[in-house]
Amino acid sequence: MSIARVRLSTAQLQAIERAAEAAYPEEACGLLVGHSEPGGAWQVSAVEESANVAEPPRTRRFEVDPKLRLRLERELRESPDSVVGVYHSHPNGSAKPSETDVSMIFEPDMVWLITAVTDGRAGATKAYKPSEDGAAFQPLGLDLGGEEA
Ligand SMILES: [Zn+2]
Repeated sequence: MSIARVRLSTAQLQAIERAAEAAYPEEACGLLVGHSEPGGAWQVSAVEESANVAEPPRTRRFEVDPKLRLRLERELRESPDSVVGVYHSHPNGSAKPSETDVSMIFEPDMVWLITAVTDGRAGATKAYKPSEDGAAFQPLGLDLGGEEA
C-alpha cells in the first residue's frame, strides 16, 4: 500500500514557515482547508493562521482558536472544501509528533503538519495522520506544487 500524500503550494508552506518563525519561541498553529482526492491524497486550498489560545507557556503546546474553526466551517458550508487539517510548530524541537500531540488526537481524519523551528528559523515541515485507533501518528508524504496559492 502506498503512502498517502498531502499537496500544498510553496506559498502555503512559506506562510506556515513565516507563522512558525513569528510565533517563536511559542508554538504557531492554524488550520488547513482543502479536500481529499481519490487515491489517498489531500489537496490543501488554503492555510488559515490561528492565534495560539493554549494556556501559557505556549512553548510546548498549542490550541487552535475555536472561533476560527467555527468561522471556517460556516464559510465552507457551500464549498467542496472543508477543514482537513491542522498545522503547528515545534520551537527548538523536531518535526515529529510529541506525546502531547498524540494525547490531542480527537479527530482521526485530520491531517497534521509540524514545522521544526530552531533559533527562530523554520526548518523541516512534515505531514502526519492519526492512526485509525487515534493512538499514534503515521507519516504522510508531502508534495509541493505551485499551482494553488
Ligand atoms: Zn506538537
